[in-house]
Amino acid sequence: MNITSQTIEKTIQDYIDTSPENTLQNEANEKAFDTPLVGFATGADPIFVDYKTHVGPFHWTPAEAFAIAFPDLHVLPDDLTVITYILPQTRATKSDNRQETRFPSERWARARIFGEEVNEKLRRHIVLTLQHDGIAAVAPSLMTQWEMKNSEKYGYASTWSERHAAHACGLGTFGLCDGLITPFGKAMRVGSVIADIHITPTERTYDNHRAYCLYFSKGICKKCVSRCPVGAISEAGKDKVKCFGHLKPVTADHVKTHYGFDGYGCGLCQTGVPCESKIPLPPDA
Ligand code: SF4
Ligand code: SF4
Repeated sequence: MNITSQTIEKTIQDYIDTSPENTLQNEANEKAFDTPLVGFATGADPIFVDYKTHVGPFHWTPAEAFAIAFPDLHVLPDDLTVITYILPQTRATKSDNRQETRFPSERWARARIFGEEVNEKLRRHIVLTLQHDGIAAVAPSLMTQWEMKNSEKYGYASTWSERHAAHACGLGTFGLCDGLITPFGKAMRVGSVIADIHITPTERTYDNHRAYCLYFSKGICKKCVSRCPVGAISEAGKDKVKCFGHLKPVTADHVKTHYGFDGYGCGLCQTGVPCESKIPLPPDA
């Protein structure tokens, strides 16, 4: 097959639209995600070097991640393409979580756990599809070397941030609550793969990394602040320690007791807010 941006997009969308693996694993066997949005960036994009400056020297550029995965292949940053995709939460999952004020709804918690399993399978499916056509590819977040570190500026941070990769691929900008606001909103999950292939990058139609958030662009909204049950979001951004303290053990206990599986989740700041399902406009605030 001649691999193009269209064939990669179709591979990703077909998987989510037709694979039985895309399931919340509930009684009704509902889909975990709606049709994805896909974007591309070149491995030579200077934004990836900027991330090292901001997040920390431990944050991989695409070429660094690729070199760890394929030490015998000698490729230049320009030879690589970063593929990212947005997996939108379904209407039912968002609607349920909108009603919640302290704990995640069952569908949301399922999307967090079983949806992420779908995401892992999708990353592998993309890698295998490309490899089948002789293209070396890797999903950095599935690499054994992927880990969480401590960023001086941001606290917990990983060696490869898929939300940052999606920002580089033109798929969205960051909100006050730290989530990525995409054309499908920020109630979504994200995935990424790096491949030894040339694909025309997706245009970044924003001029800064916070352009879509109404607080940063217009000084209004802050709806995510009041949605957070533990006061983890303020004008200073998200307090990750407070947020994680709520996720585990508080929501984990709730999920086990009320929904009967091992999991956790929250997403209250991702639902019931103007940027939940779209790029918000001032009248939405
Ligand atoms: S709810 Fe409002 S302030 Fe919070 S991230 Fe969304 S647009 Fe920004
Ligand atoms: S995920 Fe929940 S606890 Fe964390 S910041 Fe958002 S609303 Fe607050």
